[in-house]
Amino acid sequence: MLKITEDSENLDLFNYWRIECPVCGKVNKFQTLKQNAYTEKERDTDFRPKKLSWKNPVYQNLNPLLHFMACCESCFYTREFDKTFREWKKDQHFQEKLLPSIRKKHLKILRKKDSSIKKIGKAILPELYPFESAVLKFLLGIIDENLNPFAQNFNLARYYLRIAWLFREKSEKELDFEKKSEENLDEIFNSVLFSQKESQVKIKKLQTEVEFFLKQKKDTVKTRISKSFSKIEKKLNSLEKSLDYLKSLIQKENTQIFFECLCFEDFLFYLKMCWAEVPINEKEALELAFKYYQKSYNKNKALNQKIQVSYLLADISNRIGDLESAKRYFDLTMKLGQDFLERHRDDMIKTALAQKVLELSKSQYESLKTL
Ligand SMILES: [Zn+2]
Repeated sequence: MLKITEDSENLDLFNYWRIECPVCGKVNKFQTLKQNAYTEKERDTDFRPKKLSWKNPVYQNLNPLLHFMACCESCFYTREFDKTFREWKKDQHFQEKLLPSIRKKHLKILRKKDSSIKKIGKAILPELYPFESAVLKFLLGIIDENLNPFAQNFNLARYYLRIAWLFREKSEKELDFEKKSEENLDEIFNSVLFSQKESQVKIKKLQTEVEFFLKQKKDTVKTRISKSFSKIEKKLNSLEKSLDYLKSLIQKENTQIFFECLCFEDFLFYLKMCWAEVPINEKEALELAFKYYQKSYNKNKALNQKIQVSYLLADISNRIGDLESAKRYFDLTMKLGQDFLERHRDDMIKTALAQKVLELSKSQYESLKTL
């Protein structure tokens, strides 16, 4: 008898939660990834996890960012899914000082005829549109963060940066997929077309041979046979037309439809008409992340967070093509990092991030200097 070593519990990489929505009271079921669900194999310079190794390969196409935000399925109130949110009922400051104002403002927007929260919330369908749903959940999270009387610029920046990561991953996957599948399809189409041309040549040859053979025969027989050849030729030509039609069908099917919009970008444009801070692509998301990291840097007092923020400001500047700001912020990061390392020389844990950021800044600063 075979022994099943992997039970279903080991393969299920999710934790399940039931949490009451602070705004409308609905008890939502959320799922979050277990801590050991995957390990990171590679990161981008802005800390985006680039390559993941999943404990269960079934999930290899899942982006963990889809579960970063928790969105109420009834009123669409959205928060980062962390311990603070899970334990909001124990958080007196949130309940007394923040929640009444957030609830009032959130419900007011939700009730509006042309409510942006409702439009975005209704478009979230993770099974059908995982990338789009992840982006939209971050947008809702940004709306609700803005409704908080103590809105954190640092959080807004982090959410926009994650939207940029989602766009980046999508472009990378599309490039890879389109290149492979287009190459494959083209190859097959070309081989079918080639066989069709080959058949045409062979049939022409056959026709010449037959005509030679029929030289002495009656004209009526010759006409019948010649008609039959033109029928074959017509069929071969119609095969070429059918192939063209098939190609156009595939191209049409490949155009993505998102709700009533032609594509997701159109849906974002539509939202942008009422809310300017809706990013349409990675660059716009990075620009918004930059804006809020900059605000956060100016207000932040903690040195270790300042180092992280100034590094991200440098990396983002570099990515959006503002090389002068990139140099300035890398330089600032190196100064702050050096200062931090000297102050906490004996604390390896405390200095680990500063050390990493310092190394990254040095190498990026050096490559910018050579430009
Ligand atoms: Zn709710």
